[in-house]
Amino acid sequence: MSEVFLHPAIEHGIHKGVAGFAGGTLKCQCSVDPVEVKVTSNVAHNHACGCTKCWKPSGAAFSVVGVVPRDSVTVVAHAEKLAIVDETAAIQRHACQVCGAHLFGRIENTGHPFYGLDFIHTELSAEQGWEEPRFAAFVSSIIEGGAARPEQMDGVRAKLTKLGLPPYDSLNPPLMDAIATHIAKQKGIL
Ligand SMILES: [Zn+2]
Ligand SMILES: [Zn+2]
Repeated sequence: MSEVFLHPAIEHGIHKGVAGFAGGTLKCQCSVDPVEVKVTSNVAHNHACGCTKCWKPSGAAFSVVGVVPRDSVTVVAHAEKLAIVDETAAIQRHACQVCGAHLFGRIENTGHPFYGLDFIHTELSAEQGWEEPRFAAFVSSIIEGGAARPEQMDGVRAKLTKLGLPPYDSLNPPLMDAIATHIAKQKGIL
């Protein structure tokens, strides 16, 4: 089996973001009439994700995905091409029906720990300066996605670590703690 290709934005090293970067325009991959989404915020919690739901460019084992406030996201062109991939998923991914790219993922459940945040893929923007990915999540899931064999996983994790992306098989500790804190507060434990 060939070597695991992580993602074009991380495979050959990571470009650091620019402090004060204030957003850009995401475009789907259609050469004609692309969907355009304006984002008026930098990305936060940007990371490589190995889950089977996130949109990945062709040949990539991981997506690169982060969050922005949902009120910073506006569809400015060709909204008619967008459709929700799975209405029942916690994160409703709005994808271009022609090229398949996911423009943004939105949570409609107001009780969800990440309600108010939209998930975006900054590689769909031509602007440089987005905060760089800082960890890798759901790494083991790339086996499920068919991108790696189990015996390749030590190598994948070593490569991610070398790139400065600590690998986790869930989200990273700050986000897992945020989820648990939210649930504990809902239950009255905190
Ligand atoms: Zn994912
Ligand atoms: Zn498209």
